[in-house]
Amino acid sequence: MNHVFAAPPTVSVPVAGTERTFPVHRIYCVGRNYVEHKKEMGFTDRDPPFFFTKPADAVVAISHGAVGEIPYPSATQNLHHEIELVVAIGTRGRNIPVEDAPGYIFGYAVGLDMTRRDLQFAMRDKGRPWDVSKGFDHSAPIAPIHPVADAGDIANATIALDVNGAARQSSSISKLIWNVAETIAHLSTYFELAPGDLIFTGTPEGVGAVVSGDLLEGRIDGLGDLRVRIA
Ligand code: MN
Repeated sequence: MNHVFAAPPTVSVPVAGTERTFPVHRIYCVGRNYVEHKKEMGFTDRDPPFFFTKPADAVVAISHGAVGEIPYPSATQNLHHEIELVVAIGTRGRNIPVEDAPGYIFGYAVGLDMTRRDLQFAMRDKGRPWDVSKGFDHSAPIAPIHPVADAGDIANATIALDVNGAARQSSSISKLIWNVAETIAHLSTYFELAPGDLIFTGTPEGVGAVVSGDLLEGRIDGLGDLRVRIA
């Protein structure tokens, strides 16, 4: 190729139990997808799911057993954790029916949708895009992806996050307002999904601030742990 500078490296996430990696294409996120989190954000409507994105290179892939590290970002005084089930897409498709959606899933992982909450509220209140609050560098830490066959039935799995050993978030994947198949179906009406896409499916209640030095330990039954320290 005749690029004017070296092309950026491919962002990838380890696949659990293998030496292989999942190359990341796009990151989609679902907003307010658990009832109790929606309430704590001040909403009670029953609208269809809505989506936002992060750049693929916001990913911080953390290998099994490791403690990852992310810097405290600039321009915020209120960095929040959002523990989330991440769906990894393995097959291209658009306008995917709910009943076909499971066939498009490569696997699942534990992820964090790190959020500059102060900027999110400021942008929200002015009707401006969320990018600076959601799509910043290092805002998408993620644990290894478990292929569907290895993940087991995650539909009723516990999802939880501790900060410095104290419980902050604890819920069940069964409490998703729009479940994984419904989310894929909705999202694929707006975008052609492609192998390498990651979907952060939303966070349960209990979001809160973290500061430099804090240790975040997230987990979803069947998908292992995600451990991140704020530098
Ligand atoms: Mn989120």
